[in-house]
Amino acid sequence: MSDLRLYDTLTREILPVKPMEKRTMRFYCCGPTVYGPAHIGNFRTFIMQDVFRRVLEATGMKTRHVRNLTDVDDKTIRQSQAEGRSLGEFTQHWTDRFHEDCDALNLMPPHVEPSAVAHIPEQIELIQKLVDGGNAYKTDDGSVYFSVNSFPDYGNLSRLAERSITTTETDRESSDEYERDSAADFALWKAQRDEDGPNHWPSPWSKGRPGWHIECSCMVLKHLGESFDVHSGGVDLIFPHHENEIAQSEAATGKPFVQHWFHIAHLMVEGKKMSKSLKNLYTLQDIAERGFNAVELRYVLLSGSYRQPLNFTFDSLQAARSALKRLGELQEKLGGAPDPIPPEQDFGPFQPVLDALLNDLNTPDALGRLFRIAREIQKALDAGELNDDQCESAQLGLAMVLQALGLVLPSADGEVLIPEEIQTLADERWEARKQRDWDRADSLRDKITKAGWQVEDRKETFDLTPLN
Ligand code: AMP
Ligand code: ZN
Repeated sequence: MSDLRLYDTLTREILPVKPMEKRTMRFYCCGPTVYGPAHIGNFRTFIMQDVFRRVLEATGMKTRHVRNLTDVDDKTIRQSQAEGRSLGEFTQHWTDRFHEDCDALNLMPPHVEPSAVAHIPEQIELIQKLVDGGNAYKTDDGSVYFSVNSFPDYGNLSRLAERSITTTETDRESSDEYERDSAADFALWKAQRDEDGPNHWPSPWSKGRPGWHIECSCMVLKHLGESFDVHSGGVDLIFPHHENEIAQSEAATGKPFVQHWFHIAHLMVEGKKMSKSLKNLYTLQDIAERGFNAVELRYVLLSGSYRQPLNFTFDSLQAARSALKRLGELQEKLGGAPDPIPPEQDFGPFQPVLDALLNDLNTPDALGRLFRIAREIQKALDAGELNDDQCESAQLGLAMVLQALGLVLPSADGEVLIPEEIQTLADERWEARKQRDWDRADSLRDKITKAGWQVEDRKETFDLTPLN
């Protein structure tokens, strides 16, 4: 059992998160739809999932983290067709961009990052199982639908009954995303349509492509097994996506799919829902262009409880900058960031911060405690009241907290410590320049800039500075 307690969407209770396999927590996060840059709302969800993993690992738990890439669905096909690009080339471009953003935000790469388009044979197999078991049926055009009435537990996660939402067999929905207040048989396999262009695959029912919901069920089954520990996504995925995932998976396996459901409330921007029409779907690049870096954004996204919507403002980035600077000054006074942190290190005087995180990942409470303790330590340091052991315990404890939150601090002179990934990119660029491979050097510079850093060449070396 882990010491972490977390709200579970299905039971609506805060429960201990227990791995079924003794020491490894297996969890699945619905990944990005790679049809454009991820926005800061998406990153709120990915960062909370990252903190979930970091907190478990800080308590000595092993994790197996699977986060897929949605690289074939209505949106990716529509957009790649509109741009006249092949689906593969188009989604690879946005996948690369997503990875760069994740590095800049210090997100730990998942252990497995399966691609939906690479799992089409397995999806066909799963659909066939559902057809054979009487849970799915073929329509005249060669599409296949899941019959929600064939699965008596349909609607438990999102409590459809409480919302007086009923289903009828004639109600069918073919698009991947549909209205909250309707429940309908949903497409597992979609027969080819003109607008899909060349994006179709053979199947026993028709040339076509899978629906979005079956992709996740299939990748979970393949990479985590029939039953696993924690499934996560933003709250918008509770219905219909996760409801549909449960129905498909449990109908196919006859086993309970997920033990614990972890959903993250949405990020709002300046009091409004994020949307294309309001032009407030900010990306990491927008943040960098306004002079802020990814660590500052990460801090802001941690400043609210994942259970509540969080309001993003540019002022909050400014406040994050000062908060991080103060912590950076303390870290310097304590002797800097230890690298590496010794194994099995405890949180020392910062234990209350970990306790707040173990209590339903309460990040605002954790940050509040962090600053209270930091102030006390600062005072004691200034008064010369800390002996060497106490200093060391504070230095290592602070490093543990920062690691659990995934924060990298600026040093006392205001310079942000350079994340390892950025340093590697810059080193590779320097090497490319030495080889006179200007194209590669330029493309690496682009990556560094997109991640919010500036590289300036000197005679024998280069400088890296955050784009502030
Ligand atoms: P998508 O790329 O649209 O498939 O979304 C990736 C993840 O971001 C999913 O877990 C979504 O639920 C989540 N998400 C989408 N919009 C927001 C938002 N405004 N705030 C927080 N999470 C979001
Ligand atoms: Zn999913």
